[in-house]
Amino acid sequence: MKVPLLDLEAQYNPIIDEIKAEIEKIYKTHYYILGPQVKDFENQISEYCEVKHSIGCASGSDALVLALRAIDVGVGDEVITTPFTFFATAGAIYRVGAIPVFVDILPDTYNIDPTLIEAKITNKTKAILPVHLFGQPANMTAIMEIAKKHNLKVIEDNAQGIGAKWDGKVAGTIADIGTLSFFPSKNLGAMGDAGMCLTNDDELAAKLKQLRVHGESPKYFHKFVGFNSRIDTIQCAVLSVKLKSLPKWSEGRRKNADYYYERLSKISQIKLPVIDDKALTIFNQFTIACEDRDSLMETLRNNDIGCAVYYPLPLHLQECFKDLEYKKGDFPISEESSEKVLSIPIYAELSREQQDFVISTIQNHYKK
Ligand SMILES: *Cc1c(COP(=O)(O)O)cnc(C)c1O
Repeated sequence: MKVPLLDLEAQYNPIIDEIKAEIEKIYKTHYYILGPQVKDFENQISEYCEVKHSIGCASGSDALVLALRAIDVGVGDEVITTPFTFFATAGAIYRVGAIPVFVDILPDTYNIDPTLIEAKITNKTKAILPVHLFGQPANMTAIMEIAKKHNLKVIEDNAQGIGAKWDGKVAGTIADIGTLSFFPSKNLGAMGDAGMCLTNDDELAAKLKQLRVHGESPKYFHKFVGFNSRIDTIQCAVLSVKLKSLPKWSEGRRKNADYYYERLSKISQIKLPVIDDKALTIFNQFTIACEDRDSLMETLRNNDIGCAVYYPLPLHLQECFKDLEYKKGDFPISEESSEKVLSIPIYAELSREQQDFVISTIQNHYKK
């Protein structure tokens, strides 16, 4: 039996004909750039995420850059974020000329530890950029409180958390701007790159729309320099079809997670994901922390079970940030997590037989 980490074949099979029909509509009109499918999809996301404005762009990484530029983060500004995230979070801060200032994470949720934020605020701090890692929202209550007290903006990197909730509020809509990624392995994945910004603020929405088309408004008149970062019309058509299945897929992931909790909780060598009482996670990943991680990884791979380490090197130790002068030991929880975490298959189409095989393989590995 083969169990991939994610099975796009199984995901697309039931909907591929509908997707093809939608794509065909586009090449019959040749309306490729910001075609009507873009606005339609943006409206659907606004409804799904209970937010006033959704602005599509070229990728989740670009969404972060546009968001930072929209709140006027620029050269020399500091943005507080987590070192235990996908590279794009800090990469976006760097790309606008600002400085990523890292604080460590909580050992249970892997999200930024709000109690460590205030000590890192300086007169250069412009914003806080929490990440809702693996689909579980960070503690937005605490983060928004700190931001309010110190007059800082907040951007939620919600690339992994579409439809997740914090204290009843949809992730990505709590701060000034939230971002989404439609990278193929996200819960709502495109057939290529795509991303989005979410905001309830009319002015920020207008600025984001302008930023994605070279800063122009009206056409050919530029008040500032923006980007070419439009969301692709074809991707919007694909994503509109897929969005209809998203609630079912997220539910399927939760159900699979429940089964792992039921069957794996007795293995003392692994720690299952801890979900905050206030959080509704969408399990973009099911990430366990394990003793002797690399040997478990080898066992899983030898049994054709997909697994991956997100992320093997915290961002403060990345070579490209060596000028920031962080060193090993600065963020012990992030560093320890990077040595222990392992994400195992959780996608909705995973069959019971496949999941049982993952479970028994892990059980047998630790019995030895
Ligand atoms: C995927 C991801 C991004 C970047 O999204 P892309 O669409 O791949 O550019 C940013 N932040 C996090 C946390 C991500 O997981």
